[in-house]
Amino acid sequence: MSDVTMIDYASGVTAIDTRFAGTRMLAACHLLRDGNEAALVDVGSNFSVPVILSALAQKGLARSQVRYVCVTHVHLDHAGGAGEMMRQLPDATLVVHPRGARHMIDPSALYEGARAVYGAETMARHYGELIPVPEERVHVVRDGDRLPLGQRMLQFLDTPGHANHHYCMLDEAADVVFSGDTFGVSYRDFDTERGPFIMPTTSPVHFDPDAAHRSIDRLCALDPAAIYLTHFGEVTGIPRLADDLHAGLEAHVEIARRHADAGDARPQRIAGDLQDWFIGALRMHGVDWPERAIRKALALDVQLNTQGLMVWLDRQAASRQ
Ligand SMILES: [Zn+2]
Repeated sequence: MSDVTMIDYASGVTAIDTRFAGTRMLAACHLLRDGNEAALVDVGSNFSVPVILSALAQKGLARSQVRYVCVTHVHLDHAGGAGEMMRQLPDATLVVHPRGARHMIDPSALYEGARAVYGAETMARHYGELIPVPEERVHVVRDGDRLPLGQRMLQFLDTPGHANHHYCMLDEAADVVFSGDTFGVSYRDFDTERGPFIMPTTSPVHFDPDAAHRSIDRLCALDPAAIYLTHFGEVTGIPRLADDLHAGLEAHVEIARRHADAGDARPQRIAGDLQDWFIGALRMHGVDWPERAIRKALALDVQLNTQGLMVWLDRQAASRQ
């Protein structure tokens, strides 16, 4: 497979395009190496595994040199391919949040949960069968835990908000963070002279805005030189992006609350207002695409963010009863 897309950053980190869901530059697998050892952060789906293996080979890395497969959280665009990847990397350890570990060892509940959101056809097309990871190859990391990679130290931070099984990884020497979905998503297609456009992801089923705000503040307080987002790649200028994320979260919550009592019309109204909000924010950012093209590019994000906001509204309502 020669048409693998990789981006090498000055920090030494490489973003490998996993071609998740057959889409370019949607989800990255980040490769970090030090001396003879390497780590992968997030691995896409089963269908991403050959792409990532080909990238490793192009980098001159033997499969046995990969010491860690790190999954920031167990959503399937990050961890769906973890079982198959572990089968291909004989000496790797899977590094996972305490709340995600059992879903990697027995992925059946994860599969059913995702099928409920995406439907059976999408599951087959974009994910395939989820492969269990043998328990003895799974390493759980709690807040503040560290693991060595070559001469480096990797530190793991519990960062709920997007998902309650989510950690972020700090490379202490390089002063960079791997944020999974905690620091939102930022597609390179929307870069302008203002820099990256960034937006929150409120996917089902654990979205918690208060925790999300706190986790963003925690990453920002580390004052990292760069953050690596699974969707997609390196961003810098973190304080401005954190401000934009906080504002985006507030807008999402306000839109959800506005339509909380809309009954059956709720999903359509939330999605409509989210779309309008995204278009307005992109216009402010200097993106001059036709509205139709923006709607198409963000259709999946709007759908997932809407579903996550509805689950959050229902949880809020239930907790008031
Ligand atoms: Zn996620």
